[in-house]
Amino acid sequence: MTNQSSQHKTNSENEAEISLWLDYMVEPTTLESLLEYCKNRLANGQSNELVNSMANEVTVAVDKVWKVIESDHPDYDCRKGCSWCCHQNVSVTWPELLKVYNYLRTNLDPTQLNVLKKNSNKRTEEIIGKSTNERLKQQIGCVFLEGNICTIHTARPLQCRGGFSEEENYCRNLLEDPKNTQQAVRDGRLRGKFLIAPKLIYNSAQVAMTCAMKEFGMEGSVYELTVAVSILLTKLCNGEADTVIENDLRPALLENIDGDIVTSTINV
Ligand code: SF4
Repeated sequence: MTNQSSQHKTNSENEAEISLWLDYMVEPTTLESLLEYCKNRLANGQSNELVNSMANEVTVAVDKVWKVIESDHPDYDCRKGCSWCCHQNVSVTWPELLKVYNYLRTNLDPTQLNVLKKNSNKRTEEIIGKSTNERLKQQIGCVFLEGNICTIHTARPLQCRGGFSEEENYCRNLLEDPKNTQQAVRDGRLRGKFLIAPKLIYNSAQVAMTCAMKEFGMEGSVYELTVAVSILLTKLCNGEADTVIENDLRPALLENIDGDIVTSTINV
């Protein structure tokens, strides 16, 4: 993911550029190429079907980018059955939600969908108005977590795909003692263990989709996964499967309040 022009820059210019990328948590080459790609896709139409296809294609593209550079980065402890990081607000965009929604409609029967709807409604009551730190403190997991396994692994959102940790213990401490662990990182007593490169790449994919949507007059906001799924499944189980629009998701909007990601308090 090296920006070719960096070869002609001084070290301090390169450092300044890298620091700028980190401030925005995106990787510029990935962002630029995916933004162009998404704008071309949306120029053909903005139906749910086309937006869902865009999400599928963008996901395949960023998964490939990460696979190519993965061996240049530190090893990570993430594996099936490890789910310390699945107890926080998960930021998702409309295209990613359509991808999850279609995955559920294709793979679950009506009874299973109904059970999932009830579970997500119940979990939403616990999540509404809570920040990520409050969720961590109360250990409120994602609705798709069952026995420490993600039940939508192939369709999981970009933030889940880009989260890689060098040490399982670090994630465990973040869940069991978030305040002290975060403070230790802030004070420099502990080094954060999440890999930066995949975070930047997968963030770039989310930003590319939301920026492209905004250019076409769509909302392009960011939502909390469990709350948004609860809204979508309620519509589906009420026989309104094909009428879902992004505006339905307003109660699932995420806000950044003093650096903590908080779920909206609008009633679902
Ligand atoms: S979607 Fe899967 S990986 Fe993401 S938070 Fe939920 S259970 Fe974890």
